[in-house]
Amino acid sequence: MEHASRRDETGVSPAACDAALAAETPQYRLTAKAGPLWAMLSVHLGALLAFLPAAAPTRGILLFALGTFAVRTFCVSAGFHRYFSHRAFRTTRLVQFLLAFIGGMAVMRSALWWASQHRRHHKRADQEGDPHAPWRGFLWSHCLWFATVDNQPVRMELMRDFSSYPELVWLDRHEWFPLAVFVVFCYAVGGFAGWVWGANVSSVVLCHATFALNSITHRFGRRRYSISDHSTNVLPIALLTFGEGWHNNHHRWPGKARLGEGAREPDISYWGIWLMEKLGLVWGVRR
Ligand SMILES: [Zn+2]
Ligand SMILES: [Zn+2]
Repeated sequence: MEHASRRDETGVSPAACDAALAAETPQYRLTAKAGPLWAMLSVHLGALLAFLPAAAPTRGILLFALGTFAVRTFCVSAGFHRYFSHRAFRTTRLVQFLLAFIGGMAVMRSALWWASQHRRHHKRADQEGDPHAPWRGFLWSHCLWFATVDNQPVRMELMRDFSSYPELVWLDRHEWFPLAVFVVFCYAVGGFAGWVWGANVSSVVLCHATFALNSITHRFGRRRYSISDHSTNVLPIALLTFGEGWHNNHHRWPGKARLGEGAREPDISYWGIWLMEKLGLVWGVRR
């Protein structure tokens, strides 16, 4: 029972995790009743409007879309993943809020929901209980898992270390708010084309790149570490996700802020975390 009283880097005891996961009754039914799914569907439909002449992008619009992609990808990768899921560094309450708020514009729900599902993934990687277990099929692990009854609620029992922050709980209960702010922002900056490219096309690329971490980097690619799950390293996914594609490294060292190992494994999010550390915005970076 000594093991049960220890806590991992997330601050949640293994015993509490095991109890929460054991109490689950998996329901693999798809649901159409969830708002986040409709948000996901709407950005895909919105991205199709990119073929309209009215949405023809200028160089400025393309740069803007690249910017919305980059900032949100960083907040998902460094924020939702390395900070909220793994506590790989410490930061101020304001930066914590900004990571949650801007990450909440990525159409992948709230920081609390995202991190709680990701902690489930690490506890049961590639086994029963993994929310996006790859053996259930490629499409399942890529995106269908996002649309099941079972995976809709936030697993607050796995997020005790962050659930005491009312602003994070508020963002979780009002997931639509950052999205609404983002849509208005894109339209205000670039009009119709700004909305199509900045809010929709960039979101579709961002979401599928992140989803590929569950489908591709648990199925195809190279493995540096021979560990019990099937995680792999895939360069193109690592570039698109700002370093997350070094997924085999990550499963070997889940608490580390740096996922890429060596000069041949670029890790853009880590470079961002390093810069924020130099600026005094984050500290206690785990390496
Ligand atoms: Zn994984
Ligand atoms: Zn992780």
